[in-house]
Amino acid sequence: MTNRTHLELPEAFAALGLDNTILLALAEIHFREPSEIQKRLIPVALRGVDVIGQARTGTGKTAAFGLPILQRMDHGQAFQTLVVVPTRELAVQVEAELLRFAKHTALRLQVVYGGQKVTHDLKLLERQPHLVVGTPGRIIDLNERGALPLYNMKFVVCDEVDRMFDIGFRDDVRKILTACVAPHQTILVSATINDDIERLVAKHTVNPERIFTSTNQETLTNPEAIQYFVGVQPWDKQRALHLLLKQENPKLAIIFCRTKRSVDKVAASLSAHGINASPIHGDLLQAKRERVMRGFRTGKINVLVATDLASRGIDVHEVTHIINYDVPEEAEVYVHRVGRTARMGATGRAFTFVSPGQAQLQTEIEKLINHLLEDYKIAGFVPTPEPGRGHGFDQHRSSAGSADRVDPRDTAGHSVTPAGPGAASAVDTTVYSPTSFTAASAESKPRPLSGRFPTRRRR
Ligand code: AMP
Repeated sequence: MTNRTHLELPEAFAALGLDNTILLALAEIHFREPSEIQKRLIPVALRGVDVIGQARTGTGKTAAFGLPILQRMDHGQAFQTLVVVPTRELAVQVEAELLRFAKHTALRLQVVYGGQKVTHDLKLLERQPHLVVGTPGRIIDLNERGALPLYNMKFVVCDEVDRMFDIGFRDDVRKILTACVAPHQTILVSATINDDIERLVAKHTVNPERIFTSTNQETLTNPEAIQYFVGVQPWDKQRALHLLLKQENPKLAIIFCRTKRSVDKVAASLSAHGINASPIHGDLLQAKRERVMRGFRTGKINVLVATDLASRGIDVHEVTHIINYDVPEEAEVYVHRVGRTARMGATGRAFTFVSPGQAQLQTEIEKLINHLLEDYKIAGFVPTPEPGRGHGFDQHRSSAGSADRVDPRDTAGHSVTPAGPGAASAVDTTVYSPTSFTAASAESKPRPLSGRFPTRRRR
């Protein structure tokens, strides 16, 4: 048990207006200095006004919205605070984090999310929690069953709003906010803020204070993360990945793929090469996902192969490497992925595989983060000629892997130079047709790329 008398309460947090019940909990978990978003958001939220916080993932935003709310909550009212998050993993993590902060209060916290039996949640909600963290679909379901009343909420938080919108929860979020009819404080947190989010802000907040920790695009991705691109043909990606992992020998790495099928394939090929990798995506049973996450958190699994949705909110310290096996089709997604590494001041390395036809996607990313990705050559990597060239599409597809399926148009009329380690530049100076990808799941909806992309400008 912690000896309270020897614990020094963190003065820097006290200066923000937090009281001893919270400060003691912070002292016990060794929070000494508030992060930037905490410094700026906590005093504002303690005043009870609505807040829009723009902060990238891993910057301590859970404490930024959680601490002031936990301090201001009334112990006498059940169903008083609602925290809406995009995914189950994030729901579990946010609840765990809030439980640590609320340790010396008598507040009851509960997490609810899809993927487990609704009867399980119904039972838990009979405990009349003060605060509920949950995913949008399950919140609505429980509300409609009368088990999770929203009408009297006093504090409503939407975390990672941009992500919720990206994955199709826009209407659910609106519905939830509309159901919170009592006067309440609203805190919206998002890594990026677009017009869609602005409309939500206009409709569901009152004179909100805006706190932007990333107004300068340079800070949108972690400056501590060194970010590279690797020019590689689709059919060479698995080999390039094996080599890169061997050379980098990451302590903890997340590899992002576009589809669940691609996640499974890549994870299986890594395991077959003796790399300690596990897949994580929405088709896995919740228990299995939790087991994988536990393994990753405790270092039993070094490499997580994930879809964007499944990886959202993964809060694991010391993720040393991010590898974008499939380049994200939206620049914002890149920011979220790379936000998994170099958290809270640690360093990290991020590699993005870019195939011919994807130069425009890379440029979009670079424009958003206002930073050029460094050209990385994997030592000893020798690109191979396109397999099965001239022998039909099926052969081509099987060698490229499902997520890397190449549009038959791509194979027509182009000669891809089988080159040495400097091949990336050969690739980049040729004009290619775009690559299109297999639409494999609702979780990841590849946008077919159409038209020709301009050749990437060399630097
Ligand atoms: P978050 O952005 O809320 O997911 O936080 C990222 C990680 O940083 C979590 O593991 C937090 O426990 C940790 N963290 C947040 N704020 C602080 C702080 N002021 N001092 C130390 N660790 C922190």
